[in-house]
Amino acid sequence: MNDQLTSWGHYPSAPQTGHSCAWRSDLEQHLQRLNDTYGTTLPFGNGRSYGDSCLASSDHVLHLRSLNRFVEADWQTGEICAEAGVTLGEILQLSIPRGWFLDVTPGTRHVTLGGALANDVHGKNHHRRGTFASSVLSFGLHRSAQPPMVCSPVENPQWFAATIGGLGLTGIISWVSIRLRKIESSLIDTIRMRFDHLGEFFALSAELDPVHEYSVAWIDCLAKGREQGRGVFTVGTHSEQGPLQVESSRSLRIPIRPPLSLVNPLSLNIFNRSYWHLQPAGRERQTTPYSSFFYPLDRIERWNRVYGRKGFQQFQCVLPESVAEVALAQLLKSIAASGTGSFLAVLKRCGDFVSPGLLSFPMPGTSLALDFPQNSVLTNTLLPRLDAIVREAGGRLYPAKDAHMSGSDFRRAYPAWEQLETMRDPALISRFWERVTR
Ligand SMILES: Cc1cc2nc3c(=O)[nH]c(=O)nc-3n(C[C@H](O)[C@H](O)[C@H](O)COP(=O)(O)OP(=O)(O)OC[C@H]3O[C@@H](n4cnc5c(N)ncnc54)[C@H](O)[C@@H]3O)c2cc1C
Repeated sequence: MNDQLTSWGHYPSAPQTGHSCAWRSDLEQHLQRLNDTYGTTLPFGNGRSYGDSCLASSDHVLHLRSLNRFVEADWQTGEICAEAGVTLGEILQLSIPRGWFLDVTPGTRHVTLGGALANDVHGKNHHRRGTFASSVLSFGLHRSAQPPMVCSPVENPQWFAATIGGLGLTGIISWVSIRLRKIESSLIDTIRMRFDHLGEFFALSAELDPVHEYSVAWIDCLAKGREQGRGVFTVGTHSEQGPLQVESSRSLRIPIRPPLSLVNPLSLNIFNRSYWHLQPAGRERQTTPYSSFFYPLDRIERWNRVYGRKGFQQFQCVLPESVAEVALAQLLKSIAASGTGSFLAVLKRCGDFVSPGLLSFPMPGTSLALDFPQNSVLTNTLLPRLDAIVREAGGRLYPAKDAHMSGSDFRRAYPAWEQLETMRDPALISRFWERVTR
């Protein structure tokens, strides 16, 4: 059956026809048929990428969510193997009661194994564990007109490196084997506190990151003048006490996409001011269910609809350590002056882990991520200004979130793109890849 699929940000608006594949043994035949009929295609996981990296140039994607079977699991060692369409949430449902958790998880559990690998996603523990690649033992790769291969650090290592963070361009990932981490409880011990400026954020991060597994901050992107750079810092560690309990956090659904964005300067200002003031000034310790710690947005199903019919763009950059504080101040100043911004502005220090992935996004430094309602001022004025600051600082943008970066910025920031292009399966190409490489 064919489905209509979109990216998470609904921008660019390019509905994809999804051609579902339910059996690994059918992958070759599906790839061949799509290639013969539409010229090219692209693997599609669960559409949690924001921009156009999950959209096929042909607008016909190979939808892999139905490859959703577990292949094997060793609950003594925490090594599991599952088909590429299995989501991280489905893994947690099985693994938590047995005392195992994901080693690295992004901010939503509705991501497939294939999608997590193809974007080499990172989470709140990048400073301790690096990216998703650090937990990947091996995977299966189908390239058009070639026998399937097994890829690992020792078997076909060049395909292992190119496919991790390879944006779905090197072939179809059919199964993935990962290592989980042992936990005693599904609860997270957290410490949360406000900070008044960026200098304080960096001081808190230097003090608390080395002794906590997870670390993340919310920043008030609308604050100006003396208030600029204020936010809320949170660290967490797996609790040693408490149940091993799977939680379903979904409680609300945005039923329709309104014609206009509900996120506007007025609603943002009210939210940001009150949110900051409601946070503890001193260090507040709490024990929190894992779902509200890792996946707060998953509680609202289809929350992306609040941005209305035009959709939204996420801007996520990482800035090198030596210039991060100065460049962040410039970014925040430009954003506050524009009056636009997001409820969720996330600041996170990245560690100095080097992923095997050729095009992996994180680098040692600090990452900032914000959502902006789509409009012409964003495209023509604000994003070019932010891009110039990131360029000048020697930073880069995250392809998984991107719908606007220029080809020259991409090629400067990801010099290994040419190597990936030589390894790309000619049957696979995305709108993103076409935009930034041609
Ligand atoms: C609320 C929210 C929070 C997020 N938080 C984070 C975060 O903290 N850190 C982070 O790094 N990212 C984060 N993301 C982004 C998300 O983790 C990535 O975009 C992820 O790759 C999406 O996976 P998906 O299964 O939805 O794949 P899709 O978005 O459908 O596809 C992503 C890429 O993977 C490729 N792909 C998918 N399946 C396969 C396959 N079987 N074989 C080969 N290629 C494949 C696609 O071609 C595409 O290039 C977040 C997204 C949301 C919506």
